[in-house]
Amino acid sequence: MQIKDPISSFTFCPKCRAELVLENYDHRLRKKCASCGFVDYHNPVPAAGAIVVRDGKLLLVKRAENPYKGDWCIPAGYMEWDESPSHCAERELKEETGLEIRAKSIFEIYNGTDDPRTNAILILYFCDEVGGEAIAGDDAAELRFCSLAEIPDNIAFEAHRQALRDLQDRYPGLLK
Ligand SMILES: [Zn+2]
Repeated sequence: MQIKDPISSFTFCPKCRAELVLENYDHRLRKKCASCGFVDYHNPVPAAGAIVVRDGKLLLVKRAENPYKGDWCIPAGYMEWDESPSHCAERELKEETGLEIRAKSIFEIYNGTDDPRTNAILILYFCDEVGGEAIAGDDAAELRFCSLAEIPDNIAFEAHRQALRDLQDRYPGLLK
């Protein structure tokens, strides 16, 4: 797996192609372009996901691609440039599971530092099913509604493992 550069993902300026140099700028060591002034702030990427519970069972998906291929997670994905977090959760759910949902309320927000592609901010919504048919698709190899006893041991991402713990702690009885 790729090691993340904690300061920057770029070596050269993405705007003018000059070499980026390390500089103390805006209270941190950052990579900055001496030629055009571009600063690589290297912010985390927002993502959104859906908590969908049917008859006391939580919807999980098995990852079809790396990172953590074969492990299970709460259906979620990175936000597109022009969409809202709730729309992102609804779109990702539709792509990965075929189910149509409506984001109802925010469950919790987590930061993720164990995705080798980028650091993430994960916004998880409680969601209602409104239609569709459950068929695994896109980057989900399989989907399953899990009771507490059926939640697999191999859950990808610490944020998702923490979310599963928080869900049980804060909403006892939600999952059977
Ligand atoms: Zn530049």
